[in-house]
Amino acid sequence: MENTGEILLPEDEKRSLNFIESIIEEDLRNGKNEGRVHTRFPPEPNGYLHIGHAKSICLNFGIAQQYAGKCNLRFDDTNPETEDTEYVESIMEDVRWLGFQWDKEPYYASDYFGQLYEWAVMLIKKGLAYVDDQPQEAISQQRGVPTRPGTESPFRNRTVEENLRLFEGMKNGEYEEGSRVLRAKIDMSSPNMHMRDPILYRILKKEHHRTGNKWVIYPMYDYAHGQSDYLEGITHSLCTLEFEVHRPLYDWFLDQIIESDYRPRQIEFARLNLSYTVMSKRKLLQLVQQGLVNGWDDPRMPTIAGMRRRGYTPASIRNFADRIGVAKRDNVIDVSLLEFSVREDLNKIAPRVMAVLDPVELVITNYPEAVTEMVSLENNPEDPEAGSREVPFSRRLYIERDDFMTDPPAKFFRLGPGREVRLKGAYIVKCESYETDADGRVSRILCTYDADTRSGTGTKQPKVKGTLHWVDAASALDAEVRLYDRLFMDEDPAGHKDRDFLEFLNPDSLKVLKGCKIEPSLSSVMPGDKFQFQRVGYFCVDPDSTPGLPVFNRTVALKDEWSKIKEKHS
Ligand code: ATP
Ligand code: MG
Repeated sequence: MENTGEILLPEDEKRSLNFIESIIEEDLRNGKNEGRVHTRFPPEPNGYLHIGHAKSICLNFGIAQQYAGKCNLRFDDTNPETEDTEYVESIMEDVRWLGFQWDKEPYYASDYFGQLYEWAVMLIKKGLAYVDDQPQEAISQQRGVPTRPGTESPFRNRTVEENLRLFEGMKNGEYEEGSRVLRAKIDMSSPNMHMRDPILYRILKKEHHRTGNKWVIYPMYDYAHGQSDYLEGITHSLCTLEFEVHRPLYDWFLDQIIESDYRPRQIEFARLNLSYTVMSKRKLLQLVQQGLVNGWDDPRMPTIAGMRRRGYTPASIRNFADRIGVAKRDNVIDVSLLEFSVREDLNKIAPRVMAVLDPVELVITNYPEAVTEMVSLENNPEDPEAGSREVPFSRRLYIERDDFMTDPPAKFFRLGPGREVRLKGAYIVKCESYETDADGRVSRILCTYDADTRSGTGTKQPKVKGTLHWVDAASALDAEVRLYDRLFMDEDPAGHKDRDFLEFLNPDSLKVLKGCKIEPSLSSVMPGDKFQFQRVGYFCVDPDSTPGLPVFNRTVALKDEWSKIKEKHS
């Protein structure tokens, strides 16, 4: 797959119609479906939604909004073995969080089990379906290969009466799992493998999360999907490219069952692939089940729940979906485009605060001992409404350890012996000396200040190259900070033939920093609150926070560190 890698900037907001919009507008011009536009988002509740689903959600709900139409949320719950109400709940939460509302109540494919069964009986009566007693493996083998016709089942020509009796027996639980299936009787030599007598029903003696033990036969996804669209009056059924080859089968079912002319129109688009990311629910489930991440909402996961916990905003995800648009050909989007969208939105909305992640003490030796003054700092230069706040400043402060070097090179515009920097919003300080501990690590930096250099109001405002963030030691609060890096070290972790995607897990994807120091204005933060730690990055309060110890997740760094790192190594 080709990496398009191109980053579209926000100026591109005015774009031409994409191919789906063109089709819809043509249908509207032709008066199709009485001018209705009705889409649906049809997840299977067998895992949490990921960023690929977010693209599909934005597309389906977005199209409905754009054309004053409707969008259904439909759970494609035809497989009781893997589905669960936990997933149903999380999917509804995620869709709402992204900012969308489905039409009416959510729909469920399981609501149509009765109707689908009746239609299957109808197909049998028309001589278009039969019960096959062969095991799955034999059926698969007989299907053959696309270039050669398959083999017809020895049970293909059973009488209608026998088929009706056996299918009813299947429904009544008279046969073992795997002993019989219902198949459509279409064409064992079709070049389209999906038309070679596909399976419609299998026996599964499993409890279903909604229908309980009412059914012991369950329809296959392919048999349920098109009819569900039909039953809900869907006009445009948007799905990913792999379903293009299923379309003739969906049409075939409706053509046998339905008399009216109305048909949902299926349009296929390319699924979203992101670099450095795995996006199959099966693989994500594996990460969760093997404890390689801390649950579906681990901030390193590409799930919507994970991104929410990490501090991504709904707007940033919607903007991302808009920017990547819809394509007809598979491609890979650079994950830094997603991070760009997140940074862009947080830049507009996140209050600026000061936090020191790896603190080292700085003492201003000529600053009066018992004095604390308040310095006023702007909350968000991007937002004129955001105002300012007062932050305490006194003799003892913390600065970031890597903002000081004992023997800095000329180009280091931060602090070192004999050098001067501005402490943001406060004074210019000069480093006079430093102390080290038993291991030779810097334990204290000793500075002097000039009271006339106070930011804004001081009579002396000499130019200094560096401005450092700081927190006042006496009033600072403690915090834990979790730094995240890519979960995978390979651009396409699932794309290697002979290697398992888990081999590419990044062992350093989570770094926990304890003993961070934050300014006292952060004393009553709530999970989900978002901030820019100045000069450090964007952070979001994690639900693991306790009253005495807030926990912050790094959402995204201030700049695209990753492309810099990549450059260095290439
Ligand atoms: P996965 O491959 O991750 O298991 P899925 O396709 O099996 O996903 P569904 O629950 O069936 O998951 O997907 C619901 C809808 O989301 C479908 O219409 C599907 O086409 C769409 N979708 C799933 N993955 C992507 C993706 N990566 N990009 C765009 N749309 C997607
Ligand atoms: Mg699917």
